[in-house]
Amino acid sequence: MGALKSCGSLAAYGRHLKAGEEPCGLCVAAREASKTRSQARVTERRQVRGSAAWMYSRVQRRAKTRAVTWIRTEHPDVWKAFWEQAKQEMKEGGS
Ligand SMILES: [Zn+2]
Repeated sequence: MGALKSCGSLAAYGRHLKAGEEPCGLCVAAREASKTRSQARVTERRQVRGSAAWMYSRVQRRAKTRAVTWIRTEHPDVWKAFWEQAKQEMKEGGS
C-alpha cells in the first residue's frame, strides 16, 4: 500500500469514513471547500447556459464565423485587405 495522505484532504476524509471514524476538523474543512467550489461552478454554468444572453452570443458567434468563411471564399480580395490590415495592426502592437 502507498503512503497515506495526511489530514486536510478529500482522500483523508474518505479514509476516516472507511475506518468508521468521525472525520477530523481538517478533513471536514477540506471536503466543505471542495463541495463549495464544485457547486459554485455548476451554478455558474447553469445560469449562463441557456439564458437569452448565452443564446444571443452563440448565434452571433456562429454568424460571424459564417461571414468570415463567406468573405474568404466569395471575396478573397476583401479578405486579403482585412488580413493585411490585421497583420499591420500586429506589427504596430508588437513595437
Ligand atoms: Zn482527518
